Amino acid sequence: AKDSGRNRYSIFSKDLSLFLHKQRNIASRLRASIQKNEFTLLYQPQIDLRNGSIISCEALLRWTPEVAEHSAPPDVFIPIAERTDLIISIGRWVLEEACRQARHWRNKGIEICIHINVSSSELEQDDFFERLTKCREKYDLPPSAIGLELTENILIKSDEQVLDGLQKQRALGVEISIDDFGTGYSSLSYLKRFPVSHLKIDRSFLENAPESEYDGALMEAIVNLGRKLNLQIVVEGIETQSQLTYCQNVGIECAQGYLFAKPLPAKDIETRLLEQG
Ligand code: C2E
Ligand code: CA
Ligand code: CA
Ligand code: CA
Repeated sequence: AKDSGRNRYSIFSKDLSLFLHKQRNIASRLRASIQKNEFTLLYQPQIDLRNGSIISCEALLRWTPEVAEHSAPPDVFIPIAERTDLIISIGRWVLEEACRQARHWRNKGIEICIHINVSSSELEQDDFFERLTKCREKYDLPPSAIGLELTENILIKSDEQVLDGLQKQRALGVEISIDDFGTGYSSLSYLKRFPVSHLKIDRSFLENAPESEYDGALMEAIVNLGRKLNLQIVVEGIETQSQLTYCQNVGIECAQGYLFAKPLPAKDIETRLLEQG
């Protein structure tokens, strides 16, 4: 028994050191990619379920190093970037690129809000809000051009300075979404403190809502909560027709999901938006 215990331990430590080695590799490649701007933003449309039109979009980051095999999906590289603070430089690039894209689209008469994802360490930077404002000014954008997506956990642990910054931006007309709503911390009292405009309901709630009475009840409770608090509801991850029908029956007005479009290159979104007029 003792032997097998030792064995398990050595297998575990081998896995762990491989894991740490991989993380370090990813971190150092990310660092190199920041120097070379090897990132791109894809855009996933948010759809008005009442008429099928695109009303806004979410910018989703992709890592595009020269050697494609060295890349990793956001769910892998973003947590590493967050732990190593590389997310600060990456987030700066995301903001700049989203503003550049918003200006490019506005020059063609396309005026939709681009929502960007913001990590907690970015928001905690003393100059975050100043840089946001400066970047909008640089590209001559109104506050409504760039929205912020934040997770519940960020809001719960954030301080007065962040609260104050968010309030000022919200007052200017910046859309602020709570991402992955319902999956984080269980207290809802932060909704009272923070100037939120949108709730994005996590995909996990929708997945079985059409068939499962339990999941359906959760969805409907969240939708009612949002309505009472005067928040816009966005549902994430609609993949099937039955999920769409369900959302429409519940009265949800806005959604994102593969059923409508995967995250797309800017050019493809542009084509759709110009067709839509
Ligand atoms: P998220 O903000 O919750 O983004 C939604 C994720 O769901 C995206 O994954 C999107 O591609 C995916 N998705 C959209 N529709 C569907 C659907 O119908 N079915 C399924 N199964 N998935 C769908 P993605 O692009 O891999 O991004 C993963 C996460 O990485 C994001 O989750 C976000 O937390 C983070 N992330 C992405 N871009 C950025 C960024 O620029 N900055 C920061 N800080 N985080 C980012
Ligand atoms: Ca998001
Ligand atoms: Ca989300
Ligand atoms: Ca997520």
